[in-house]
Amino acid sequence: MKMFDPHIHMTSRTTDDYAAMAAAGIVAVIEPAFWLGQPRTHVGTYIDYLSMICGFERFRAGQFGLRHYCTVGLNPKEANNEELAEAVMEILPRYALKEGVVAIGELGYDEQSALEDKYYRLQLELAKELSLPVMVHTPHRDKRQGTLRSMAVALEHKLDPTYVVIDHNNEETVLPPILGCRRRQPWQARARAQAAPLPPARGRRREPKPPPAARPGCPLRERGQDRRGLSCLHVAPHSARAQG
Ligand SMILES: [Zn+2]
Repeated sequence: MKMFDPHIHMTSRTTDDYAAMAAAGIVAVIEPAFWLGQPRTHVGTYIDYLSMICGFERFRAGQFGLRHYCTVGLNPKEANNEELAEAVMEILPRYALKEGVVAIGELGYDEQSALEDKYYRLQLELAKELSLPVMVHTPHRDKRQGTLRSMAVALEHKLDPTYVVIDHNNEETVLPPILGCRRRQPWQARARAQAAPLPPARGRRREPKPPPAARPGCPLRERGQDRRGLSCLHVAPHSARAQG
């Protein structure tokens, strides 16, 4: 089976991991730009990091037969350093146009501050201008509110929802029926009521109900581990060394 990992931070992994991934059938990865655990204080370190994921990491993956793609962006934590953020916004378009860059991100909210909001919006506009998707990091604290806000702001900026990947979801933000969880949100009850099937037409024999399909166990409970890594698109463990 061939697999594709849409969110992995390979700069923090060894080449042995590339060998193991190739042996397991992973043929391509996306490496989103993010916080490294220690806030960067100069744009120069950002330039080196972006050059690394656009250049050397691509080469390193290629040595094991993996295709490497990446996303580039100003992460929400460092958006709070305005001087740095301004400088990164200057250089970002240059990297966004490089080969192998498939989206702008990770971007979004961390503490949901005014500066994070400012640079989230600026990067949404950049993505629109370049016709690139965005990879949205959702906050570790107050995740539900931050996720709803991220989506609302993306819609406000008129991004095509199919170009917006909301990542780092957990049980608060992923549709419980998809994951087989019991807890339902109020909006789901409304949606279910609206989508209730029409009663059978008069005189027609009612078909016997098929037996209920086996309900898969909730992967969140089964895994019992790093729930931050669950995404709306995949349930691969998040591989950030830092809180990515
Ligand atoms: Zn990440």
